[in-house]
Amino acid sequence: MPEPRPWTDITPEEAAAQKLNLVVDLTITAPLNEEGERCPWPWEPQQLVGAPLGQYHCPYCGAMVMAGMPHLDYADDTAPAA
Ligand SMILES: [Zn+2]
Repeated sequence: MPEPRPWTDITPEEAAAQKLNLVVDLTITAPLNEEGERCPWPWEPQQLVGAPLGQYHCPYCGAMVMAGMPHLDYADDTAPAA
């Protein structure tokens, strides 16, 4: 079985065009929310560069994320997301 593709290698445009859903597509890695659930579509926060939002809840998985930054991954609280 090939290594899953890192979700961060996929652009938001590609993810939207392919209508990706990482809850069902296990060939791509996904960040986890605080409940340990895979985010179905983690490409929104990174697109909000310059938005006056700061922290907000990802509308797809509910995780607390930062506008303008890649979706946070709560898989391991002891280390920053790779
Ligand atoms: Zn999310």
